[in-house]
Formats: sequence, structure tokens, C-alpha cells
Amino acid sequence: MLEAEGLDVFYGKAQVLSGLSLHVARGEVVALLGRNGAGKTTTLKALMQMLPVARGTVRLSGTEITGAPPYRVARAGLGYVPEERRIFTQLTVRENLEVGRQKPREGVPAWTEEGLFALFPNLAERADAPGRALSGGEQQMLSIARTLMGNPACLLLDEPSEGIAPVIVAEMVRAIRRLKGEGLTILLSEQTLPFARAVADRVAVIDHGRVVFEGTFDALDAAPGIRADHLAV
Ligand code: ATP
Repeated sequence: MLEAEGLDVFYGKAQVLSGLSLHVARGEVVALLGRNGAGKTTTLKALMQMLPVARGTVRLSGTEITGAPPYRVARAGLGYVPEERRIFTQLTVRENLEVGRQKPREGVPAWTEEGLFALFPNLAERADAPGRALSGGEQQMLSIARTLMGNPACLLLDEPSEGIAPVIVAEMVRAIRRLKGEGLTILLSEQTLPFARAVADRVAVIDHGRVVFEGTFDALDAAPGIRADHLAV
């Protein structure tokens, strides 16, 4: 579904991704794990073509998207939810969702407001509240819900559990599992192993802009060196 091969990305002269390769199969949830500054956000932005890819290719459903403008990448079915929640604070939850609405995609059931409120019951309760009145976790959920209104086939989530209350983290886990149940393909970045383990089928560990491990959680557990050397404890 989503394939990155040999990506090099630079910020100015500093190389941040070096030959990064990553594969997410259709319907799979993959966690991109790594320490602060390992290159997780850069990877997601590079996949979305929000940063220039100096070398390498990105394919979505077999079609090369390298170098395409991000709006086209979004239309091609890739949804991106940044770490900093991008919601309209003056608009209500309902209005925020309306802003995200896109034409239905062929072969994918279109998301409706009702469907999203069933996925995020917290948001249903705050449907007419302005974005600014929401908690951090609720804003994160609204940010995801708004992206889902674009009916993506594959979702990129940048640290969805970051800075949200534990009870909302549990809601987030439930929502991501349900999205997987709906057939969505998901790549999410994460710093913590427990959240990743709760939602993902497989894990890719990134350090200094390269993938140093890709496999199941069982395989990761069997390779304690990877955890010690490349993950925050
Ligand atoms: P975090 O958990 O802090 O979000 P991350 O794994 O997502 O970390 P990135 O944000 O991708 O890491 O950053 C990777 C490296 O690139 C870091 O060394 C960071 O300092 C550097 N970097 C990030 N953004 C820029 C930028 N706009 N200009 C220059 N360097 C940057």
C-alpha cells in the first residue's frame, strides 16, 4: 500500500534521512518508533511530499508519488495528521469536520459525521463546542476525524498519544483499532513501546534517519539490543 525506498532528505546541508526504506501493507498498522530527533516527523512529512526527497521513491498503491504536490498526494488517498493539532479553534467540532470533507473515494466507504462521532464519542458530546474549548486529547481526535473526512486509504499519524491524558489514550487505542477494523492502513509515529504495542501489527525502529529494525513485536522483544540502543527507555 505504502512503500518508501532509499529516501534521502536534507534540511539545508544536514542529512536527516539516509536511505530510509519502509513498507506498510494494505490494512496493516505499523508503528514507527524512535527517540526524540530520530527522524519520525521528517519521515512522515517526506512520505506526504511535504519535504523535498533528494533521492529515493515513494509509492502509494503502486503509483509513484515522489515529488507530487501534497494536495495531490492527499487526493491519491494519503491522509496526514501532524503532531501539532491543526484544528480551527474558532469553529465548532461539527464545522471543523465540514471543512475536512472531500469527495468520496472510489471503493472506500465515505466517512460521515455520524460515523466519526461513533468512532470518537467524546467528540459527539462536544459537537457544538468551539475547537478552542476542547482538551488536548479531544483536539487530537478532532484533528484525526477531520483528516478522515477526506476519506484516505492510508493514514499517517504523528505521535497520536503525545501529551494526552491517560483516559484519552485508551480512547485513542480503541479508535485506532476500529480504524484498522474498517480496513484503513495506518503508519503512526510513537516514542513509547506500550502504545505502539497496543495498536500496531508491526514496528519499524528508526535512528539517525534510517530504519534499524523492522518486524513484529515478538521479534523486537527477542532483540533486546535494538531496544537498548535505539529506543528511549
Ligand atoms: P520528535 O519526537 O522530537 O518529533 P522526530 O523523530 O520526529 O523527533 P524529526 O523531527 O524528524 O525527529 O527530526 C529529525 C532531525 O532533524 C533532528 O535532528 C532535528 O533536530 C532535525 N530537524 C527537524 N526539523 C528541522 C528543520 N526544519 N531544520 C533543520 N533541522 C531540523
